Amino acid sequence: MLGMDKSLFRRLILSYLLTVLIGIGFVGILISYLVKGYIFSTTQEEMVRKGRIVNMTIQDMQIQSEETEQMLVFLDQSFNTRIWVFDRSGEIITTSTKDEVSIGKSVASSIVERVLQGEDAVNRLEFEGLNEPMLSVVVPWGQEEQVYGGIVLHSPVVGINRTVMKIRETILWATLFGIFVSTVMVSYLSWSISRPLRTIDRAAEKIGMGNYDERIDIKSNDEIGDLANTINTMAAKLDRIDQERKKLDQIRNDFLANVSHELRTPLTAMQGFLEALQDGLIDGEEGRKKYYNVMYKETLHMNRLVEDIFDLIKLENKEISLQPKPVDVNEVIHNTALIFEQEAEEKGVELKVDTADQLPKAYADPVRLEQIIVNLVKNALKFTEQGYISLSTISEEAFIKIRVKDTGIGITEADQELIWERFFKVDRGRSKVNKGTGLGLAIVKELVELHGGRIALESEVDKGTTFTVLIPAYEAPHTELNG
Ligand code: ATP
Ligand code: MG
Repeated sequence: MLGMDKSLFRRLILSYLLTVLIGIGFVGILISYLVKGYIFSTTQEEMVRKGRIVNMTIQDMQIQSEETEQMLVFLDQSFNTRIWVFDRSGEIITTSTKDEVSIGKSVASSIVERVLQGEDAVNRLEFEGLNEPMLSVVVPWGQEEQVYGGIVLHSPVVGINRTVMKIRETILWATLFGIFVSTVMVSYLSWSISRPLRTIDRAAEKIGMGNYDERIDIKSNDEIGDLANTINTMAAKLDRIDQERKKLDQIRNDFLANVSHELRTPLTAMQGFLEALQDGLIDGEEGRKKYYNVMYKETLHMNRLVEDIFDLIKLENKEISLQPKPVDVNEVIHNTALIFEQEAEEKGVELKVDTADQLPKAYADPVRLEQIIVNLVKNALKFTEQGYISLSTISEEAFIKIRVKDTGIGITEADQELIWERFFKVDRGRSKVNKGTGLGLAIVKELVELHGGRIALESEVDKGTTFTVLIPAYEAPHTELNG
């Protein structure tokens, strides 16, 4: 994280410094050259003007006279330039300074030529015998028609250079100030970017470690705010997925616990019986037969349990496919009634069947449809001690409605929602032991839904329960009418 922070800073400072250096430094240096040039040219013009004044003053005077020399000294002092006068051959004949070593020396012939043609020479000229750099101009000496020679004016460049130096110094300071300001700005900028980024990074790290309820508290309207929002949404999604996974884990664990519990009960019973038989504790063939019989029933029960679990798992994994066909529901109802007839009679509960005439066929898997009805009737019989159980059918719109009604113990409103859960059994204390496993209705619900039907119940405690199942009716395929 710190690495990112630093490289961000480095990149920002680099681009800022580049801007400052190019902006202020480069442009500044350019300006200083331009200014220097400007000062040079104005100074040169000024000096040419002064040269003309010198010429006007001395053109009518006797050269190499006391008077001229004094005049030159005067002009030197008032103009602050040294003045030389040379003749047509280029030889310097008089100067404004007494101790001048240049007298007798010659001016370059190219300059002499130009001056004799009446032109000014306004270059930065180097003359022998002058140590410090000088700006010099040469103007013709004499009248318009008659040129006697030339007048050279020198001015030390020091003043100009000092001005330029001043400008450059100012630019340097401006650049330094720019660097300082940009460093401060970059520091602030990278801080203001990296601080929320660090917050985001920390949160993302926590989310990565499984803390899905972690949220980032950044509400800026920029890209960083967007990033924070995206990560928050992602965390929320992960949170939801995690919760779901935990719930599924819980369901699976409950399921395993339930299965092993349901299997343990009959197994423990059988183990006890077998031990008793092994130890010869049971006397007589009759007694032993009774034990074998109980054990056989336990194995049947376990078999049912395992089959139910298989069914349910396959149903929930959508691994069971129906083989639907047109089914006469009334026939299935009558068959089921036959199965439970004897049991109902033994219990003293009346089993009534009330099927509708000319009932359309249902579109269902007959084996599974019977499984649905058998499960419902088995429950009705199990939880009804007196009164009746009635099975009825009726056509309702595109469905066949099957009703299994009993006058049994009923189900409380709170439990009505729970009975569909696998392994759920209403707890009624120890007096009435329900040998079921609580899988029946879970299987029924899955099967009904697989058929594209619906199931509902109405129940009142101590009055009875009615389960209503809707199974789609069979629709004969239409024959297309041509012409
Ligand atoms: P299994 O069907 O697996 O042998 P079960 O009958 O206990 O066991 P379900 O058929 O799923 O399980 O029923 C769940 C619970 O709903 C029952 O244990 C019972 O408490 C309640 N229940 C179901 N049908 C009725 C009914 N007709 N009257 C009263 N209670 C019922
Ligand atoms: Mg049941």
